[in-house]
Amino acid sequence: MTSQQDSIARWIRSEIRSLSAYHVPDPGGGIKLDAMENPYTWPDEVAGAWLERLRRAELNRYPDPEACDLKQRLRRVMGFPDAAGLLLGNGSDELIQMILLAAAGVERCILAPEPTFVMYRMIAVFARMRYVGVSLQPDGFGLDMPAMRAAIAAHRPAVIFLAYPNNPTGNLFRPGELEEIIELAPGLVVVDEAYAAFASHSFLERLDARGNLLLLRTLSKMGLAGLRLGMLVGPPAWLAEIDKVRLPYNINVLTQISADFALENHALLDRQTARIRSDREVLYAELAALPGIEAFPSQANFILFRTPPGRADALFEGLRARRVLIKNMTGAGGLLRDCLRVTVGTPEENRAFLAALRACLA
Ligand code: PMP
Repeated sequence: MTSQQDSIARWIRSEIRSLSAYHVPDPGGGIKLDAMENPYTWPDEVAGAWLERLRRAELNRYPDPEACDLKQRLRRVMGFPDAAGLLLGNGSDELIQMILLAAAGVERCILAPEPTFVMYRMIAVFARMRYVGVSLQPDGFGLDMPAMRAAIAAHRPAVIFLAYPNNPTGNLFRPGELEEIIELAPGLVVVDEAYAAFASHSFLERLDARGNLLLLRTLSKMGLAGLRLGMLVGPPAWLAEIDKVRLPYNINVLTQISADFALENHALLDRQTARIRSDREVLYAELAALPGIEAFPSQANFILFRTPPGRADALFEGLRARRVLIKNMTGAGGLLRDCLRVTVGTPEENRAFLAALRACLA
């Protein structure tokens, strides 16, 4: 070993050295259906009005540290209750990090059903916390409630994450089961509604100023992934503590102005998400009809599907060779063996994906 490698081995924590960095593949100019992005851009007149707004940005000044105007707009447009607190993050990823930094402690545990969004586990490792994953039911990806109850009792988690709908499975868990978990949890329960714009149910109404439920939202899937804006809504007393680990000025000037502008025009985003919801049903029906493919119903803007045994890698690579990038989940093993995940794109993109998949299956 060189002395630099010795030094890295000595000073970088072993759990960090054994992680792989969050991998984002190069789309290579083809059709990009791997990251749950909204495929639609803005009409020229809207883009022009946005650029006009940006002309007024004072980049020599720090942003409003509390993003007051943007928060007011978010409350109105998203319907957050007046009694709830609101914290903003540089994407909801940053809010997950803030929650875990605030609750961190080597003896503390984070719990989530598995498979789920990988950043809960990764950030738990960053924050030196123990992560416990409780397997979902193999049939339909519902919560395994006896296993969840037992894990909560055994590990007394500081934070439980429940993605609702869940990524990568796309389903909503049963509301009554989430209620029970909120009751049983010794600490916080974060219901992550990143895909709320595509789902038939939300826990927003359930927020309670004296409770332990926090709701996580993001503008990313609604068409603003490039802005990086996440929202944490919940009891003000909890949020006041989490706010203490927020880095100053975490929401930059351009994001504050652009998100405020985009939400003024939220009817446009709403039309886009409605279109994606209806195209999801078309894509699901087509996928489910392909021989050998098992598609799972989705309440999000993506669909998980299972390929014939042992063929996921080859199908993923075959799609790539045909310039269609989706997400290969089979490497995660367990319930995701032989699974691929596709984001709902434009109707043309969805058709091109289906044609490429048919060609690969043939
Ligand atoms: N939560 C879930 C369930 C997600 O799937 C994602 C993104 N894939 C995020 C949070 C993070 O979203 P962002 O940081 O873009 O707000």
